[in-house]
Amino acid sequence: MSEEKDCLFCKIAKKAIPSTIVYESDEIVAFRDIHPQAPTHILIIPRKHIQTTNDLAKEDAELMGKLLLTARDLAAKEGISSGGYRLIFNCNRNAGQAVFHVHMHLLGGRVFSWPPG
Ligand code: 5GP
Ligand code: ZN
Repeated sequence: MSEEKDCLFCKIAKKAIPSTIVYESDEIVAFRDIHPQAPTHILIIPRKHIQTTNDLAKEDAELMGKLLLTARDLAAKEGISSGGYRLIFNCNRNAGQAVFHVHMHLLGGRVFSWPPG
């Protein structure tokens, strides 16, 4: 499994840096965002180091599907399924990506505006 020495989220996945992990499997880790933008703000990542959504390969399709199913399950656990929630991947500069290890934001527990800022 690819992993990058200086990647913050690889370190979180390996528990070399502490975080509040809410779910983990052999392929996926989900943990609470350190600067939550909503009552529920969870980051869901593959353990595999993939920098951005631009770098996804065909072979990552099942893995990324599992990220979505994890989001669905965590939304239910957080009690935000019926109220609604937002799933976001930021990619590169224009979207404000700050950590270059693919991650899905699960945001919920409040009303969001559209279009996003
Ligand atoms: P991006 O802008 O790259 O999509 O989002 C990166 C997210 O990672 C931000 O929401 C930020 O608050 C979160 N984050 C950055 N550093 C840490 C950290 O050390 N621990 C946790 N749990 N979240 C972090
Ligand atoms: Zn990484």
